[in-house]
Amino acid sequence: MVDLKSQYLRHKTEIDSGIAEVIDSTAFINGPIVKEFQQNLSQYLDCKNVITCGNGTDALQIAMMALGLQAGDEVITTPFTFIATVEVVAVLGLNPVFVDVDAATFNIDVSQIEKAITPRTKAIVPVHLFGQPANMEEIMRIANQYNLAVIEDACQAIGAEYTFSSGETKKVGTIGTIGCTSFFPSKNLGCYGDGGAIFTNDDELALKMRGIVNHGMFTRYYHDMVGVNSRLDSIQAAVLNVKLNYLDSYNNARQRAAAFYNHAFAGNPHIEIPTALNGTTHVFHQYTLKLHDVNRAQLIKNMNDAGIPVMIYYPVPLHLQKAFAHLGFQRGDFPVAENLCESVISLPMHTELDEEQLVYITEHLLKNI
Ligand SMILES: *Cc1c(COP(=O)(O)O)cnc(C)c1O
Repeated sequence: MVDLKSQYLRHKTEIDSGIAEVIDSTAFINGPIVKEFQQNLSQYLDCKNVITCGNGTDALQIAMMALGLQAGDEVITTPFTFIATVEVVAVLGLNPVFVDVDAATFNIDVSQIEKAITPRTKAIVPVHLFGQPANMEEIMRIANQYNLAVIEDACQAIGAEYTFSSGETKKVGTIGTIGCTSFFPSKNLGCYGDGGAIFTNDDELALKMRGIVNHGMFTRYYHDMVGVNSRLDSIQAAVLNVKLNYLDSYNNARQRAAAFYNHAFAGNPHIEIPTALNGTTHVFHQYTLKLHDVNRAQLIKNMNDAGIPVMIYYPVPLHLQKAFAHLGFQRGDFPVAENLCESVISLPMHTELDEEQLVYITEHLLKNI
């Protein structure tokens, strides 16, 4: 699905020397490279504040803590995402409220958000799933009307851009109240371990989050609030500081591979290629197809037999996961998400796919469909 080794070899000299410098300095935690990376990412995103943390899951949790969400408050998101988005809602004692996804984009169906809002609703968490921006114009309109915070889960979409009807373009993660991302190795900007970051243009929230990531502490051993311990270590920052320079080229490589796939599958009645939206860039964290009238399990087996990995993101919608059984949802509650879980497949998608591999993958898929 990914080829992290070939990508590393392309930047080996730069990355190795970055890592060696950290080891030589012994500034393993909060070294100067962490600050440097935060500044570089803030410049790349055109966002005033970037706070790095331990991983994308923590980023979401810290965002919700900083907004002062209290047990019982409701948070709107979708059931078709990675569990982390909803896990942190549950961990904080908040109530997840699901809104089904749009069948074409896999992102939150904005036409169904308003009817999910109650007096206890405090935040909307749009997920830019698989690298495609959610409909932020409509989400921000609703959030402003109902005075809700927006926490963008941009864990799969760093570098993607969203253009408003006014013509203004922004990077995802910098549009809502707070944006969150993950630097898990296979993400579009991945480090060599765990890592994450939180973005905001709100200085007050930024200050609070800088405290929360570090035990609620601004002066050593004086704790102003309850926080967590969630840091990006200096070695990861050194890796990311090199790789950030290549993020746009990585995303372009993903888009080129996606264009190859799209071209190969266009017009096939059994395959629905990803929907392109005007005015947004899709950075293809995953390349995900919808299948029609195909024995998916057999197809996956045939592909695997030919040495081609194929994954299902995601096989079970969150409202039907055992972990959320206590919420009392049933099959049929979110039919679009349920249908997608039964009909999608994701093909290998990374920065190192060459034409020979793409031909091999597309030919095998078409032969087995
Ligand atoms: C990866 C991911 C996360 C969590 O990031 P980690 O760094 O693995 O904690 C959250 N949300 C989405 C949509 C993700 O893909």
